[in-house]
Amino acid sequence: MKEKMNKPGKSIWVFGDYRNYFQNRVTLQLLARARELAPEIGAEVCAIIFGSQVDEYVGEYIAHGAETVYVTDDPILKDYSVETYLMLTERLIRRHRPDIFLIGATDFGREFAPRVAKRLKTGLTADCIGLEINANGLLVQTAPSFGGNLIATIITPEKRPQMATVRPGTFKELPHDATATGRIISVPLPDDLPRARVRLVHCERKPPREQRIEDAGIVICGGRGMGSKAKFKKLFEMARIMGAEVGATRPVVHSQWADHDCLVGQAGKNIHPQILFSFGVSGAIQHTAAIHDADLIIAVNKNPNAAMMKMADVAIVADASQFCSALIRELRKRIRE
Ligand SMILES: Cc1cc2nc3c(=O)[nH]c(=O)nc-3n(C[C@H](O)[C@H](O)[C@H](O)COP(=O)(O)OP(=O)(O)OC[C@H]3O[C@@H](n4cnc5c(N)ncnc54)[C@H](O)[C@@H]3O)c2cc1C
Repeated sequence: MKEKMNKPGKSIWVFGDYRNYFQNRVTLQLLARARELAPEIGAEVCAIIFGSQVDEYVGEYIAHGAETVYVTDDPILKDYSVETYLMLTERLIRRHRPDIFLIGATDFGREFAPRVAKRLKTGLTADCIGLEINANGLLVQTAPSFGGNLIATIITPEKRPQMATVRPGTFKELPHDATATGRIISVPLPDDLPRARVRLVHCERKPPREQRIEDAGIVICGGRGMGSKAKFKKLFEMARIMGAEVGATRPVVHSQWADHDCLVGQAGKNIHPQILFSFGVSGAIQHTAAIHDADLIIAVNKNPNAAMMKMADVAIVADASQFCSALIRELRKRIRE
């Protein structure tokens, strides 16, 4: 068995990204993974959070695994400003020297993490789909690379912190533990904040999805083979009848047949439904890397040799849009019966 190193002062930090708290649980997922990894290196799990009136989130982070939360709470921090958040993060890290710093691979994380890594002159593995600790106590970061054609395992042997962004849905959050306790360390706002070069003029919140695709038991995923935006809409109708969520490939999102929220794959979300329907999807590795945990895959494609058809448990050679219409008709009939 691997000997546990118990060096006091080690810590794993998770960046508290709470902007879409109810939809985006990646911070909680990272806290859960950090709790699993921490005993391997004798580390404490910490969250850092900046914002205005963020007590509620601080409590949530503790209830979901954070042992310590560093918090800077000030009305100035109400809106995200990259310069300010960078400065606060850099100073905190230079002061407390965490071993590992994890950030969700959200639009925010993808913008923020490389800047932090650059300032600290450390490495960053973007878009990880796995995190482990090796026998030397180093963070082993698994991420797709070379356009997703290779899965790379990366370590950061010298520089600290070892930094990674991690795709939402890669890990499961811990259940909420209302009895959990943790230290809350209030970090005052410095006097020398940088002058923001970007001013937020207006912010509009998108209506929340009823269910997150990462948690859905049934996902109906559509690709370019659906043919058009109008035909793709059938998948939403089918999802409504089945209580499912709709997923999409990258060309579909680029053609604006579906929102970016629906993107399944290397650049989007990992999913693990009990049933995955896949309509008109070729099965490129950048897409299939995110669906390996589906229990049952039913694929519809006019090409029996498509990679998706090979991967599927049930492969149906048919026109995706026509098959979808027939299935909707059948489902409606059964609902009426
Ligand atoms: C860095 C990088 C990151 C990427 N990240 C992602 C990602 O996160 N997610 C993602 O999905 N892609 C991603 N991609 C793109 C990926 O490589 C593929 O191009 C994409 O997944 C293909 O989407 P598709 O299957 O919808 O389209 P296509 O590859 O065009 O496949 C369409 C499929 O539909 C079938 N078809 C056509 N007409 C019909 C019909 N009438 N009925 C039934 N079947 C039909 C065809 O036989 C084919 O199999 C990424 C690429 C790169 C380089």
